[in-house]
This record gives sequence, C-alpha cells and structure tokens, in this order.
Amino acid sequence: MIIRSNAHTHCNFCDGADSAEEMVKAALSCGFSDLGFSCHGYTPFETEYSLKDSCGEAYRAEIKRLKKLYAGRINISCGVEQDFYAPVVRRDYDYLIGSVHYLQDTNRSVYYGVDADQQTLSACIDQMFGGDALAMVEQFYCISAENALKHKPDIIGHFDLVTKFNASNLFFDQQSAAYQRIAVTALEQAAKSEAIFEINTGAVARGFTSVPYPEPFLLQSLQKMGGRVIISSDCHSVEQIDSGFEDALHLVKECGFCRISVLEDGEFREKTI
Ligand SMILES: [Zn+2]
Ligand SMILES: [Zn+2]
Repeated sequence: MIIRSNAHTHCNFCDGADSAEEMVKAALSCGFSDLGFSCHGYTPFETEYSLKDSCGEAYRAEIKRLKKLYAGRINISCGVEQDFYAPVVRRDYDYLIGSVHYLQDTNRSVYYGVDADQQTLSACIDQMFGGDALAMVEQFYCISAENALKHKPDIIGHFDLVTKFNASNLFFDQQSAAYQRIAVTALEQAAKSEAIFEINTGAVARGFTSVPYPEPFLLQSLQKMGGRVIISSDCHSVEQIDSGFEDALHLVKECGFCRISVLEDGEFREKTI
C-alpha cells in the first residue's frame, strides 16, 4: 500500500513555511489524490503559530479557491487543527483535528507550549507543578482525553506530544509503569470519542524525535481496543509532505493493525494494509 494523501497540512496561514498553493503543487508531484489543510485554529493568547484572523475567513477562501482551481487533479479539503484552548466554529470546516499543545497556568494567566522548546517545558513543570514532571504529564493527558470527549474531533492529533522534549527521559521516564499507566488510561478515555488517532511523522521529519507519535506501547493498546489510526506528516513545508509514511506503515503493521484510515475523495475511509 502507498499512502497518497495527507490530512494534517500546515501552510503560511499559520506556522507553515510555504503557501497553500505550493503545498498543493508538492502534493501533486507526490501523486496525491487528496490534500487536507489543517491550519492551527486561532488562539487568542498566541498568534505567531495560529491563524491570524479569529474567524479564519481568508484561510478558508484561499483553500476554496485552490479546490476549484485544481478540481479534477486533486481533492482538497479544508480542515483545522484545534487546540483545546482554541475556539473553533466546527461547521466552517470539513474536519477537525483535536490537539493539545498548551497547558494553562490559571494563577498566572500563562500558557506553556509543551512542544515549544525544552526551556518552556521545564518552566511549565517548575512553575505549575513545583518540579513534579509526572503531575504535568497527568494534566496533559487529562486535558487530551477531555479534548477528545468534549470536541469530538475527527482525528486526535499527536496524542503523546508531551514527549517531544523528553529525549533520554530528561524530565520523566517514558518506560516507567507510572508514566505508561497515565498515558494508557487517557488513551482509553479518548478512544471513547471514536475519533481516529493520528500517527504523526512530523517531529521525526524535523529531527525532534526518533519515532512518530504516539509511541508503540500506545499504538498496541489502541489496536487491542479496536481503535482506528491515520498516518499523517503534520508537514510545515513542501519537503515534508509525505515524510516518514513508509516507516509509519511498517510500524502500524508491527503494532498489529490490518487497516488504516486514509483521506480519499474528501472522506476518511478504512483501507486494508
Ligand atoms: Zn499540533
Ligand atoms: Zn499540526
């Protein structure tokens, strides 16, 4: 099987490097049948990485223009990657990727991006949790499960993003029973939303992690629960559009899955692998 679509695509309407049209051209050169855009929904406290205008009108207008312009050559969908703290009008979009990027410190009115950098994660652990990294992890997964159940996204984005700056178990031990129990418990909760879990190759492509999100132990648990998965690149530039798809497919098979979801004709369809 060769994956010929991607549902998690950023462009320069949010924090992507390239224009939406450049992303479409890259998808065409990869032989894609479908391309789904998923700009970060507007977050009032942070506009560097998210949509600049609160209603996303200009973004949707441009994707609509491209959809028309490239009709018959590639199917283009207009999704959105919604953070737990980002208000989004769901009916404006073809689909929703539900992601958690921030933890909110209500005492200081500060939002810490767990995927921003090592210093931010460290400050979050110290300021919000008195240095208790596992308490931070618990809060992250608790919000992740809540996000899935409350917003009922089509896709749950990078479920264990909290591991991004934890290389060599810098802050918490990812192999420990305590960590894995927290993550699996949240996974079980989030799976009740019946959303598709994303296998996200983006951080591997950008050199941050060695395996896609989520880690194999989570994928194996999800497989046992009968959960669905989709492989996506979370690309922020034209070069990354199908990055890591082949390796991710091997991983999915190793974790026991026989089927994956793919974006095809603007819909998420189950395909045998
Ligand atoms: Zn994300
Ligand atoms: Zn993303």
